[in-house]
Amino acid sequence: MEKKMIETSSPAQTYALGREMGERARPGQVFCLDGDLGAGKTVFTQGFAEGLGIAGPVNSPTFTILQVYEGGRLPLYHFDVYRIGDAAEMDEIGYEEYVYGEGVSLIEWSVRIAEILPPSAVHIEIAREPEKGFDYRRITVKGEERLADMLQTEKRSDEYKEEL
Ligand code: ADP
Ligand code: MG
Repeated sequence: MEKKMIETSSPAQTYALGREMGERARPGQVFCLDGDLGAGKTVFTQGFAEGLGIAGPVNSPTFTILQVYEGGRLPLYHFDVYRIGDAAEMDEIGYEEYVYGEGVSLIEWSVRIAEILPPSAVHIEIAREPEKGFDYRRITVKGEERLADMLQTEKRSDEYKEEL
């Protein structure tokens, strides 16, 4: 298991991190996004979509569970499972066909469906730390993959800090 920690201090920096990962995303990858309400999961997703070359606006699909975006380099399956009752509800929307499909899946609130996430998923956790300021976020990326191929790592996070 590889693990990287990135600190951002503005929505723009979290968006840029998402964009970076979207640019590098490969078919079939699954990204799990967790963190409290307002942590920045959707901001990250919006950057990620831009990185995939998706034009239109991307919003939080809280009331629809799944939003599919075509038109980018790869299809994006954007899930927000905050309101999911149980795993059976995921079956109904064809979860497995998406997650094991050729597009890229991004799952907000993945912790709610932890038991049906593929073991190969990359986990991204966004946390606030109030004592570090209102816009500070600590973003932890974990996965079995070589994360260095997906992130610009330390160099990038220094750049973020310099943007302040
Ligand atoms: P979530 O999808 O996790 O519920 P959103 O992405 O919808 O959260 O909202 C995140 C909110 O936090 C936005 O209003 C954004 O402007 C704000 N914000 C402040 N600092 C950051 C940061 N460093 N990264 C991401 N969002 C931030
Ligand atoms: Mg959201």
